[in-house]
Amino acid sequence: MIDKVFRQGFAAGVLGLGLISLSPAAELRAIHVSSGSDSAQVSLELTDRAAQSLFTLDHPDRVVIDLPHTHLSSGLRAAPSSGVVTGVRTGARPHGTLRVVVQLKTALPVRSSWAVAEEGRQLVLTLGEPPVAAVDAGPKAVRAQHAPGEGDRDVIVAVDAGHGGVDPGAIGHGGTREKVVTLAIARALADRIDSEPGMRAVLTRDRDEFLELRQRIARARAAHADMFVSVHADSIADRSVTGASVYVLSVHGASSEAARVLADRENAADLMGGVPLDDSPLGAVLIDATQSEIIGVSASAAERVVSALEGVGEMRRAQVQRAGFVVLKSPAIPSMLVETAYISNPAEERRLRSATQQARLADAIASGVRSYFLQNPPDGTRFKREHRTASIADTGTLSASH
Ligand SMILES: [Zn+2]
Repeated sequence: MIDKVFRQGFAAGVLGLGLISLSPAAELRAIHVSSGSDSAQVSLELTDRAAQSLFTLDHPDRVVIDLPHTHLSSGLRAAPSSGVVTGVRTGARPHGTLRVVVQLKTALPVRSSWAVAEEGRQLVLTLGEPPVAAVDAGPKAVRAQHAPGEGDRDVIVAVDAGHGGVDPGAIGHGGTREKVVTLAIARALADRIDSEPGMRAVLTRDRDEFLELRQRIARARAAHADMFVSVHADSIADRSVTGASVYVLSVHGASSEAARVLADRENAADLMGGVPLDDSPLGAVLIDATQSEIIGVSASAAERVVSALEGVGEMRRAQVQRAGFVVLKSPAIPSMLVETAYISNPAEERRLRSATQQARLADAIASGVRSYFLQNPPDGTRFKREHRTASIADTGTLSASH
């Protein structure tokens, strides 16, 4: 019976689909409800991030969250009803999916965001305008719960771990596969971004999964990403070559022969999954002014990442490189590809395997991206609001709050 209701309701409208898939099982430990008469905040405390899908149903009004590979903690008690929230139920779905249903007195707009909790992760649902108490979190709370209403959203960074599944990427002399290293660095990068107030990461893959290059772009678009960062660690014939490089899309040929060769090899990744190569000429989608502008934006963001990597002594060349990477062809999202190191160099291969080095690279990339957004905050974001407040404060018209 519940199934029928859900199926019926599902047709009513899917609000948003999470993109992060998760291999190990997560546990739902607690549900907190903070509710007023026309708004509420519901936080789900999880041991790890799950690829949530979220949708609303009516008659009665409710918000449904499906969490794949998630089980309930045995000690979890049902959250009491209060204000506009008349109850929260949980139930097991097929294939290890846990469903959480938030019942409402009346339909409310809902948005979700992930936050880093003291232990694990917190999925925060904001229904209507959030109650002030929930936003004004105490010192022990997770990072600022922010995002009340328009104009205060997070900057979203799509973090793309190169290769995966049947495509191992480059393989080091010690047997290290690029796909493993890129996933580790991508996860560290996502964590680093998520710990930054005003920024949120979305992983295009969070397990050993083959993704077509176009799917990577599609996932970033579905997440409304403001930036796309693809993480790689390729090989080169000359084993002595070391250091990171940062690439953006080129419309008119590659910045070097090596860059062209690399792009050709990366673009062949789809073949590994049996997908025919995309041989449409780059020009076909790139002629318009918007695309050139996107590449310009990508390049200035990439410059920040180059500086940050240079700051920790990781850069091979201190300029942004250019080549025709298919994965960077998103027509709307500024995109860059970071070659974090050459896995073909035995010393770098060893370093790439270490969590310390992975975190070091992730930190540098995250700080480069952050510094770009601080200077160029997208409209509607918290960064934009703070940027504006800071500018006003600079002119002396208004003193900065606290
Ligand atoms: Zn690669």
